[in-house]
Amino acid sequence: MSFEKLGVFKPLLNAIDDLGYSEPTIIQRRAIPLVLQKKDIFATAQTGTGKTAAFALPILQRLRKHQEDKGIRAVILSPTRELSIQIYEDITAYAKYMDIKTDILVGGKDLQKQRQRLKSGTEIVIATPGRLLEHIENGLNLNDVEIFVLDEADRMLDMGFTKDIRKIHPLLPKRHQTLLFSATFSDKVRKLSKLILTKPAFIET
Ligand code: AMP
Repeated sequence: MSFEKLGVFKPLLNAIDDLGYSEPTIIQRRAIPLVLQKKDIFATAQTGTGKTAAFALPILQRLRKHQEDKGIRAVILSPTRELSIQIYEDITAYAKYMDIKTDILVGGKDLQKQRQRLKSGTEIVIATPGRLLEHIENGLNLNDVEIFVLDEADRMLDMGFTKDIRKIHPLLPKRHQTLLFSATFSDKVRKLSKLILTKPAFIET
């Protein structure tokens, strides 16, 4: 099995080549075609299985290229600053041959500076839930969001982000795609999934 057979397009194949990935991992094989088909996903995946690329690659392909007239088109929520930075670095490497802007909104950085950067046309935002809400309270809108990702959902809920996620979700446009990744199928995660996912495909790895 190759990334090409999964339907991954050329600019991403070139970036994957540069990174030296020889073939997709199990989670990538299962998730990439479904994300490209715009399906909602509920996936259990541990760190180290290649789960970041499993959502990042098809998201980049779905967004394709920078669109001047649109705001943020994908939001990726992650529990911590460190994980957010990791996702940002991975996406930046995958988007090497594409015209897509990615930004990161985490605590400990100047809110105004982050805001200024967002004005210059960012398509993908990676954020911790609390920080994203702060930006929303300062005027950021999610009206153009096409894809919403919860990474390490169980950890986010254990850290007390349930309320924040429940506040963010209704601000998304009615039609959007949601991808939920979690190391475990805990009761809390299941409950949240019922609220935010529409006819999801289940991926257990
Ligand atoms: P993750 O599970 O997303 O934390 O990824 C774990 C590590 O695997 C990261 O360093 C990725 O760069 C790497 N990786 C992701 N997909 C592949 C692949 N298909 N082949 C080889 N390495 C990969």
